[in-house]
Amino acid sequence: TWDFGMKANAEAWKVLSAKGRAMDAVEQGVRLVEADPTNQSVGLGGLPDRDGHVTLDACVMDETGNAGSVCFLEHILHPVSVARKVMEDTPHVILSGQGALQFALEQGFEKTDLLTAESRKAWEKWKEKSEYKPIINIENHDTIGMVALDAHGNLSGACTTSGLAYKMHGRVGDSPIIGAGLFVDNEVGAATATGMGEAVLKTCGTFLVVELMRQGRSPEEACREAVMRIAKNQNYSDFQIGFLALDKRGNAGAYCIHPG
Ligand code: ASP
Repeated sequence: TWDFGMKANAEAWKVLSAKGRAMDAVEQGVRLVEADPTNQSVGLGGLPDRDGHVTLDACVMDETGNAGSVCFLEHILHPVSVARKVMEDTPHVILSGQGALQFALEQGFEKTDLLTAESRKAWEKWKEKSEYKPIINIENHDTIGMVALDAHGNLSGACTTSGLAYKMHGRVGDSPIIGAGLFVDNEVGAATATGMGEAVLKTCGTFLVVELMRQGRSPEEACREAVMRIAKNQNYSDFQIGFLALDKRGNAGAYCIHPG
């Protein structure tokens, strides 16, 4: 998702071209963006919630249908890797908030201050008016979602974000929710989402995309129909939704409301 994904793709390709696992490729790819302080919507440097906390959502899903997720997580640079640990080292799918942080620290992740000077400045400027518009437009969001097919024919995906800028404290979007921000079915395909999480959640967006591919739609047709399902009931001129998908044969497609 988004232009900053190009460098993440290059990073993931290093794993895929060496016949590595799709799961490793997507994790390595999105970690690059999580660590980039200039990206204000993922990981380090993410814009905070309206109380000044950077809270992160992330998930992963692999070729076996296994999944892990963290939401409302603070102070950890690589939430995607914590999500993978949840998948691999616990019997659970989602850990949230303080519990997710406790788990991350127990696993050896370090506590990091994720609020950069630039993001603090942007938040302070926002506070002058404190206009609360929980609408995803072109300035106040982004997510990196990535899906991959490896040389063994296996699919995996990852999705990570700091979510909607200046959101209510505790707000969780679609990105860490399996079937909303990310879904993988190794027999059919994989899909990920970006944009207004509330709308993606209410339509089980990526689950829908994968099910549409199962019924024979191409990845692009499936993404388009999932976008239209949301758009038909709302005035979509002021918000963005985008899906991208990959099928089992390696065909890729995407569809979004606005360019980007
Ligand atoms: N989907 C993300 C969220 O709602 C934001 C985005 O992708 O733009 O948190």
